[in-house]
Amino acid sequence: MDRYDIIVVGSGPAGATFTRILNENNRVLMVDRRPLDKKPLNVIKNCGGLIAPDAQKALAGFGLSLPVDILVTPQTFAVETLDFDNNMIRSYQRHYVNVDRELFDRWLLSLCDTQNVQKSFSTHFIGAKKTKDGYIVTLKKENKRYEVFTSMIVGADGANSKVKKDLMQKENKPEKYVSIQEWFENKTELNRYVAIFDNEISDFYSWVIPKGQYIIFGSAIKENENVHKLHQLQKEKLARYGYDLSAPVKRSGSYILRPKSFKDISLGTKDVVLIGEAAGFISPTSAEGISYAMISGAQLAQALNKDMQNFASLYRKNSTSLRCNIIKKMLKYPFMYNRFIRKIIFKANIGTLDIKT
Ligand SMILES: Cc1cc2nc3c(=O)[nH]c(=O)nc-3n(C[C@H](O)[C@H](O)[C@H](O)COP(=O)(O)OP(=O)(O)OC[C@H]3O[C@@H](n4cnc5c(N)ncnc54)[C@H](O)[C@@H]3O)c2cc1C
Repeated sequence: MDRYDIIVVGSGPAGATFTRILNENNRVLMVDRRPLDKKPLNVIKNCGGLIAPDAQKALAGFGLSLPVDILVTPQTFAVETLDFDNNMIRSYQRHYVNVDRELFDRWLLSLCDTQNVQKSFSTHFIGAKKTKDGYIVTLKKENKRYEVFTSMIVGADGANSKVKKDLMQKENKPEKYVSIQEWFENKTELNRYVAIFDNEISDFYSWVIPKGQYIIFGSAIKENENVHKLHQLQKEKLARYGYDLSAPVKRSGSYILRPKSFKDISLGTKDVVLIGEAAGFISPTSAEGISYAMISGAQLAQALNKDMQNFASLYRKNSTSLRCNIIKKMLKYPFMYNRFIRKIIFKANIGTLDIKT
């Protein structure tokens, strides 16, 4: 049986950043169920692909700049906010970078090509059994199951983390939303982002994002609601505003977490550790998760590089500001999601853009 010091489950921004920063003394296996070694073809990562200022700052802090071939047109700096609860529209300046999310992930992954890291794609984490000095992990590739031994498992497997579900059952579970995204031809040459607040659909939000020749429409709806019906209803409402969302060319869906307190963040133990959205790191107000994923991945790697024995307490310490950041975002919550407060803000035109066409 192959033996590793660390198995990283998931090679999204959290797993890729962790692996890139971890020093080369550890024998690492990184697995991902996505076929990340094959051409992108029809694979679509369910994401808006907007690199927010916090993610830009994190990349700058890593000394990285984005390669031009992962950028997508248009690069636009306005978000139009449709408030269906109050029947109001306002525009704001926003500083996102528009990328192809699948290519962004592959670029981050390409930066962790070191001898000590073995990568295995189209490989599913199936489960793990505890032994006295580590875990026997079951993986599945091309319908074949096999086992490997590891001293430590790093769960970087996103919102629906199987590592957390199987190995950390007592941990708190943040609220889960289901997010469906559909792609449509951009027939009207939409060149701004659109955020939709509509309590009839969700207490979170929906969005339209231009992406090359397409626009993406997505919504985040509580998992126990009638997600498909509400998603459809939101499209019908948008049609009244001139959005042609009648013929999707691609569709994807996934969970999205909404942490609301410190308890919703689970960092793990000394042999099963969580990073990124698996740990609950994501903004509860905007669903921006790329920065949290990269930063938490880096913080765990730095803790391990510094002190293998006491890394768990170091990781907790390193990530204090990231955890506090989620609570800070919660302070913004009523201003965005309470319809009465939002109406006052909109009426007062606080921070709005005066769009001259
Ligand atoms: C619809 C939608 C839109 C979003 N838009 C934005 C946005 O515009 N900007 C932003 O910053 N954030 C956005 N987010 C949030 C962001 O995508 C995530 O928070 C971020 O990707 C988390 O990174 P991660 O590395 O923790 O997990 P992920 O990026 O989810 O990566 C997890 C990886 O684990 C792999 N995996 C999962 N289970 C297994 C398994 N059992 N075995 C093997 N591999 C496994 C997956 O294939 C995946 O590659 C959006 C989320 C959604 C759902």
